[in-house]
Amino acid sequence: MALITNALTIDVEEYFHATAFSSAVPPERWADLPMRAGEATRRLLDLLASRGIRATFFVLGWVAERDPGLVRAIREAGHEVASHGYGHRPIRGDGRGDGRGDGRKDGRKEFIEDTDRSKKLIEDLIGEPVKGYRATTFSIVRETLWALDVLAEMGFAYDSSIFPIRHDRYGIPDAPRFPHRHSSGLIEVPPGTARVLGQNVPIAGGGYFRLFPPSFTRWGIRRVNEKEKMPVVFYVHPWEVDPDQPRLPAGRLTRIRHYRNLDRTEERLSDLLETFRFGTIGEMLEQLAPQSMEPCSSLRPPHLDPLPQERKREASYISSLSPVTGERARVRGSIA
Ligand SMILES: [Zn+2]
Repeated sequence: MALITNALTIDVEEYFHATAFSSAVPPERWADLPMRAGEATRRLLDLLASRGIRATFFVLGWVAERDPGLVRAIREAGHEVASHGYGHRPIRGDGRGDGRGDGRKDGRKEFIEDTDRSKKLIEDLIGEPVKGYRATTFSIVRETLWALDVLAEMGFAYDSSIFPIRHDRYGIPDAPRFPHRHSSGLIEVPPGTARVLGQNVPIAGGGYFRLFPPSFTRWGIRRVNEKEKMPVVFYVHPWEVDPDQPRLPAGRLTRIRHYRNLDRTEERLSDLLETFRFGTIGEMLEQLAPQSMEPCSSLRPPHLDPLPQERKREASYISSLSPVTGERARVRGSIA
């Protein structure tokens, strides 16, 4: 049996960007703190180069603006560069407004401005369209599904923001677990989960990878790859391989979630890359037959529709996601 290519994704942001620190370290203070993401990300680039693995990097616009050389280095090493928004603000509101006037209440204007700013910044640096998006703290939840249509209108090809789990801050527990298509054409690429006793359990990386024993993640990925014959989307942050980062004031739960096992993560990641096959999100999608993308019947239209059956359209769509062989996705004009 051919090995399944899982997606390795890296959310390039600083240690002080985590939403859990947003009251301790508000955005006005970010510029006063030492930046460390560049160094940690370059170490991850070295690790990937030594393994011959390409990954998808969801870069925060705030970081791209201050370290443009890092974004170029990621692309020049052959990786896929995607957007993690600009200012690390979770999406919020019902999105009902027309995007004019005071958009604070409905969240739409704020979301469009933040996303457009980051997309343009990164596209200027890499000289090609940005096709992928991941929201701050997986903040596309039931109330913010409207953001998916905005992403499609902005020319994104895929989103990786809907975590199909139960969590205190995010998640749509009954959302599909594997790549699927929204009615707009946008492909959804959910972070990895395994089914345990009728529940979706996260095996996707991040805190789950640091807090649980590594054997749990290995068990989960093996189970999904071998039993379900599907890929897993895995994520890691540069600050998770930076044990020397300055400690920020936070409550006990946040300290555990954010700081535990930072000194072990790089080695654990290296072991994981030896054990399973990983690639970019584009490479992961390329191997999936169009009909294998589970229709999203659990999320009702108008936001989400079952997959269209036209294989031809599907095939060309997926090939457009490939960073190297595929044609480039068309960049639409700004809708901000
Ligand atoms: Zn983030």
